[in-house]
Amino acid sequence: MQLTFLGTGAGAPGLQRNVTSIAFTWSSRGDTWLFDCGEGTQLQYMRSPLKPSRMNKIFITHLHGDHIFGLPGLLTSRSMGGITEPLTIYGPEGIKRFVETALSLSGSYTDYPLEIIEIEAGLVLDDGEFRVSAWPLLHPVPCFGYRIEQHDKPGFLDAARLKEEGVPRGPWYQQLKAGEAVTLEDGRVINGADYLGPATRGKTLAIFGDTAPTPMALQLAADVDLMVHETTLEAALQEKANGRGHSTTLQAAQVAKEAGAKRLIATHFSSRYLPRDMPRLLEECRSVFPNTELAQDLAVFTL
Ligand SMILES: [Zn+2]
Ligand SMILES: [Zn+2]
Repeated sequence: MQLTFLGTGAGAPGLQRNVTSIAFTWSSRGDTWLFDCGEGTQLQYMRSPLKPSRMNKIFITHLHGDHIFGLPGLLTSRSMGGITEPLTIYGPEGIKRFVETALSLSGSYTDYPLEIIEIEAGLVLDDGEFRVSAWPLLHPVPCFGYRIEQHDKPGFLDAARLKEEGVPRGPWYQQLKAGEAVTLEDGRVINGADYLGPATRGKTLAIFGDTAPTPMALQLAADVDLMVHETTLEAALQEKANGRGHSTTLQAAQVAKEAGAKRLIATHFSSRYLPRDMPRLLEECRSVFPNTELAQDLAVFTL
């Protein structure tokens, strides 16, 4: 599983950092899910190794421009690029009107099926491989963080042992793989669970939207393998950050620590910070939560 940061800036795009967008990919299907789509996301996408045709879901945290102004362009370019696979957008109330208005006023359309789903807090989808839920955060407009939980994978069936014991291959292997018991033609009962290796625990991620500190954060990020949280401002500017519905380095790190997250990636940095400031911001985070990394544009993190 990989997270590619297409934009890591807050507010307005800059030469150092584009505005927010994160691509989530995983190897088994090559699918790509986008989390937020700030202005210029499609160009950043082109600079990454990601394949546009593989992107089939976009999750929007909130309707502030630095998280959605890239949508109309990306959606229409996807169509002009000849991609016909369906795309689904999930986001807070108003996302449907925003996209449809932008497309219709500009005389644009998509040649692929586009579904826009306005979500509420709770389960957003379960596609059998991942469960995605939305958690309300604390921001001047409705804003969600997304928790992604991969289902546990059942262990491998020990086919060699079954063969040794004279269990013939057949359609009942599927039932054995599912841990069920089957009765063979010779009357023997074989319990699949006895032939399965240990299950692989699914990974969990929390991708926050913009937020001031909120108790909800601890549930959203509880025991996750990886957490992405905004750190708009440094610790000394806490009052300013929280007054605008944002968090500081220390506050993001505190959430990671209290929630029992294993790893923190900080992002959504104010444009006031230059490359030379980043070690200081990282130091602030690590003083509370040592396993912190800072995102930068086009950086890829593997989970
Ligand atoms: Zn923002
Ligand atoms: Zn915002």
